[in-house]
Amino acid sequence: MVNWWPPFPVIQGVPIGAILALGLAGGYGALWRWVPKAQRGAVAASIILGGVWQALWAIAVGEGFAPLVRFTAWNLAGWLLSVLPLTACLWIWPFIGRRLPRFALPLMALAAGIALIAATVPYRPETAGWVGAWWAAARWPGDPVLVSWGIREGLWGIGTALGLGALAWAYHRTARPLHRNRLAYGGLAALLVALGEGLAWTPRGDWILVGWGVRAAGMGLVGLLTRSPELPPLQRMGRAFLVFGISWIVQAGLIFGVLAGFRVLRREPLDGILGQVELALAALALALLSLLVGWPLHRWLRRRLMPAVEDPAGLVRRYSQAISNLLEVDRLAEVAFEVLGEAFGLQRGLLLLFEERADGLLAAHAIAGRGEAPAEPGRFLPDSPILRAWQDGSPLTQYQIDFGAAFQRSSPEERGWLQCLGVELFIPIRSQAVLLGCLALGARGGIATYSPAEVDLLTSIADQTAAVLQNIRLVEDLRRLNARLAQLNEDLARTAQRLEKLDRAKTHFIEIASHELRTPLTHIRGYADLLAEILKEQPEADGSIERILQGLRRSAMRLEEIVGAMLDISQIDAEALSIYPISVQIPTLIRMAVEPLQEAVAERRQHLVIDLVEDLPVIYGDLTRLVQALRHIVQNAIKFTPDGGTITIRARAVSPEEAEGSSGYVEIAVQDTGIGIDPADQALIFEKFYRVGPVELHSSGSVKFKGAGPGLGLPIARGIIEAHGGRIWVESPGYDEARCPGSTFYIRLPVVARGGADPMA
Ligand code: ADP
Repeated sequence: MVNWWPPFPVIQGVPIGAILALGLAGGYGALWRWVPKAQRGAVAASIILGGVWQALWAIAVGEGFAPLVRFTAWNLAGWLLSVLPLTACLWIWPFIGRRLPRFALPLMALAAGIALIAATVPYRPETAGWVGAWWAAARWPGDPVLVSWGIREGLWGIGTALGLGALAWAYHRTARPLHRNRLAYGGLAALLVALGEGLAWTPRGDWILVGWGVRAAGMGLVGLLTRSPELPPLQRMGRAFLVFGISWIVQAGLIFGVLAGFRVLRREPLDGILGQVELALAALALALLSLLVGWPLHRWLRRRLMPAVEDPAGLVRRYSQAISNLLEVDRLAEVAFEVLGEAFGLQRGLLLLFEERADGLLAAHAIAGRGEAPAEPGRFLPDSPILRAWQDGSPLTQYQIDFGAAFQRSSPEERGWLQCLGVELFIPIRSQAVLLGCLALGARGGIATYSPAEVDLLTSIADQTAAVLQNIRLVEDLRRLNARLAQLNEDLARTAQRLEKLDRAKTHFIEIASHELRTPLTHIRGYADLLAEILKEQPEADGSIERILQGLRRSAMRLEEIVGAMLDISQIDAEALSIYPISVQIPTLIRMAVEPLQEAVAERRQHLVIDLVEDLPVIYGDLTRLVQALRHIVQNAIKFTPDGGTITIRARAVSPEEAEGSSGYVEIAVQDTGIGIDPADQALIFEKFYRVGPVELHSSGSVKFKGAGPGLGLPIARGIIEAHGGRIWVESPGYDEARCPGSTFYIRLPVVARGGADPMA
């Protein structure tokens, strides 16, 4: 057999194809850990098959192999080449974020099988490659070898078209600029691979070599895509090139025109060298032109092709002015994205706010600034890498979240929620290293991606937002607190109203009950008196009946006293206590109050001391009521002082200065050596029906030791004293039945000159 194939380039006996395959495999091995899990199987298959393909080539062209081995290797290499685009399809799909359709794998297996069968048809040199195949087909129609090549090339063509088509379709469907950028790179890589493989079908050895190189470049680009999620934006690079190129060419044209103009004016031929003066003038004109035309042109082109925020400092100032006085987050989102939307040409912008939840997760609430916001808040795990990055103050693009290796660990729910927002860039809003929220910006108008300078600008804008957000949170807390206070106040007012109503009902009841009790009581008293009279006229009557009658009259009197007290208290409650004022001498008042109690004092072997200063002022008041009040105080002192104790009554004048008021007072103090009153009870004993200690332990009686009444005495005394414009209070170190610390009740009554202002008015 003759040498059927042009010799393949070798280095030191090793075919270059094999070296390329090994190099690629090594490169991929180094990048392996960055290959996303979903793509690993397909990428591995692609690399291994590529390597095997190159190895088969090496055997097919190796001089030392038997012809049959070389033919077989050759055919198998052809088979593999037709299968390679199918394996490329396997990784292209996850690359564009889609799943392969279910029927794809069986279909690919079927295609690979058909290609394998086709590859068993023996090789004939004249029919290799496209050109040879078509040429041979014209000569030998229906030749099985041609059919086999046709099948394999056809399969390769379909696979390649599918892969490229998928990329083109995905590019067309993708709105996110950074994702598009990645797809553009992917498309470029796939084109190179396809072109390289296409060249490998040709019958020319040197073309095949070029094909291998191109394919290797394409696979290298795939490696770059796998390794780095950050790809320089192709669109930005292209436009920057355009800006530079157009300005350059236009300026060159101008320079040429000026130089040529000089020559024409001087009627010189357009060739030859310029003179010194002309050259200097030309240089001046060029510089001027370049200043006048070049720079504005460059700026104009930049503005047209690469829009950027014109006045960053102005934007920051406008932004902070617009948001500084806002007190609601909804308004903040609206105003913030009004300003940013105008500056960046945004269609979409959201304010994300984070809130710690009871279950330890962080809830992210999206508030619409431009466009719609999802109603459901996103939930983030506390150790989410995305949150971690934001907490560290790093802005993130959606592209980084989708493709960055660090974020693949974050929960699919988090990523899904973020994807649904349809935004491009997240700028964290932090205050004192605490993450409050994010500015979430959609694609930038015009050029779609954000430049690093713009991301910096947005970061300082986020800092301003943080201050306002803190403010809003404080105000919201205050508002909440206020609302709660208002609610409490309302509850309190309602309760007070209810209590007042209850109290009124009670007073009403007391009034009615005492009135109703009074009539039968008077009858009982009357009949008892009548019975006593009748009994007096019957000298033979039994003495025991008289005793019974006396008991009856005593009880009736006590009952009358209590009913009287109830009536008094109901009058005091209704502020209807009648006062009939006259001039009252304090010694007279005290004497009248204690006189009926002397018997009880003696009975209890107590000492009653009355200690009055000379020249006590005269007061103006209802003597009967004042006597009633003071007597009750003294009566209590007797009751709550053990047998043998001392009760001291003092009276003195209090000057207006001492009383810190406009009028002077007379102060009467009733001091005892009794059981004392707990400070906690000292105000309460003046409330009606209040009694210290459990009710069932009280003994009843008007002067018996600790004999308590219905708890009306002190409230009535207070009612009378206050109706006179006076004040009553008690001082006692505390309650102690063993040590008897004693209590002192103070009564202050205002002194008024006759005809002066009436304190009872
Ligand atoms: P009562 O009609 O039950 O005597 P008061 O209104 O006069 O009712 O007194 C209320 C309560 O105040 C008494 O039950 C008693 O516990 C306490 N109290 C009043 N005066 C004294 C006092 N001088 N020493 C100790 N406790 C007293």
